[in-house]
Amino acid sequence: MIPFQQDFATALPGLYVDWQADAVPDPQILRFNAPLAADLGLPPDLTAQQLAGLDLPASARPVAQAYAGHQFGGFSPRLGDGRALLLGEVLTPKGLRDIALKGSGATPFSRGADGKAALGPVLREFIVAEAMHALGIPTTRALAAIATGQQVLREAGPQPGAVLVRVASSHLRVGTFQYLAAQGDMEGVRRLADYAIARHYPHRTGDYVGFLTDVAAAQARLVAQWMLVGFVHGVMNTDNMTISGETIDYGPCAFMEAYAPGTVFSSIDRQGRYAYVNQPLILGWNLARLAETLLPLIDADEGRAVERATRILEGVAAQYQDAWLDGMRRKLGLDGKDAGDRDLVEAFLQGIEGADWTLSFRRLSRAMDDPSRLRVLLAQPDRLDDWLPRWKARLAPDAAARMDAANPLYIPRNERVEEALAAAEAGDQAPLDGLLDAVRDPFNERQGLEKYALPASEGFGTYRTFCGT
Ligand code: AMP
Ligand code: MG
Repeated sequence: MIPFQQDFATALPGLYVDWQADAVPDPQILRFNAPLAADLGLPPDLTAQQLAGLDLPASARPVAQAYAGHQFGGFSPRLGDGRALLLGEVLTPKGLRDIALKGSGATPFSRGADGKAALGPVLREFIVAEAMHALGIPTTRALAAIATGQQVLREAGPQPGAVLVRVASSHLRVGTFQYLAAQGDMEGVRRLADYAIARHYPHRTGDYVGFLTDVAAAQARLVAQWMLVGFVHGVMNTDNMTISGETIDYGPCAFMEAYAPGTVFSSIDRQGRYAYVNQPLILGWNLARLAETLLPLIDADEGRAVERATRILEGVAAQYQDAWLDGMRRKLGLDGKDAGDRDLVEAFLQGIEGADWTLSFRRLSRAMDDPSRLRVLLAQPDRLDDWLPRWKARLAPDAAARMDAANPLYIPRNERVEEALAAAEAGDQAPLDGLLDAVRDPFNERQGLEKYALPASEGFGTYRTFCGT
């Protein structure tokens, strides 16, 4: 059994409804993340019933959380956990962690949808969250994937159902603040801010400007890390941006392969609002929505509050740029900092447009002595000829090793992910094992894993992802 706490439920009445997971016919553990369980000091022998929230200790108090959110720019005052359930928190060696389910059945927030999850998307989240963690990117984690033995109906027809057991530093979102602010409940916002500060930014007690500053910095660093690995989140709605700065909601996300700034995978993002290149702008937009909810806490005088919040928001772009440029310096193996680095990076990016993002960086360390190693990747092989000597003049002494430690070789490539999911749906988990093996150790080249480093085959076509599946 997991020794749960009821931290959120005790502190924040009004932000949830007490709820239960739906019974399911035949819960079976498909995946248990034993290393994560060990890291968190969780029991290694949890049963499928326990993991699916069907056999809970008295210490658990499952709740469906309330939140609001801007989805594709439009505001919904009441979204909430339509298919999620917070079982409680557990005190781990790494601090307090939420244990939550996704796909455990309809709740009062489901708005007519079924509250379930299909196996494919559950395993997809498992894979991508593992990859993100191994890449050093803050993320919610997958503790387990449980098959329910139930079919769920989706557009493509009936699918095997599953429940994901998710671990997070918390599930507080920008949208959690918006939920209370939209009701004019400023005392509630204050209580929530105090709770979020105590949980994530304890050195900011009573300091709401400091709190906003820290959330902004955490999210700016996060989005910079996404950009460096070519991650397209796909649904950066305010309800999917955490206060902790962890990546959450792996619905329509995907890793970009051929570099194109406008890359969009999500089938519903028709305007490209959440395209790769737009993510840093949306970061600022979402933080402005958070700042709005905090204005009355920042200063009793609205004009002054707006001024102070604006100053923080104006700093976000610079913070993002700094984090991104530092990351790019590491990826390119540059020595220290130089005023010309931004130009150097931009020129490289222009040079690799259309080529595989991940491999262009990974192969670059080999191009130091043998530029042909890079040329084979590029559509126009001579595009970086002028750039290579400029770059070489800026290299750190041990650049090649540094670059290989900063540029992953194995990311969850879309074709490999789809292959693993299709096989798992058909009862064969071997491809999933292979893929997890590769992405859990992304910087370390290993024999036998060659195919996990390859771009999609031509027959794979344009990749499309789906939300809320
Ligand atoms: P998401 O796109 O996962 O962030 O979900 C947005 C909102 O839709 C949240 O309130 C979810 O809880 C809800 N939602 C997504 N999928 C389902 C589903 N299958 N059943 C009920 N609610 C859902
Ligand atoms: Mg979500």
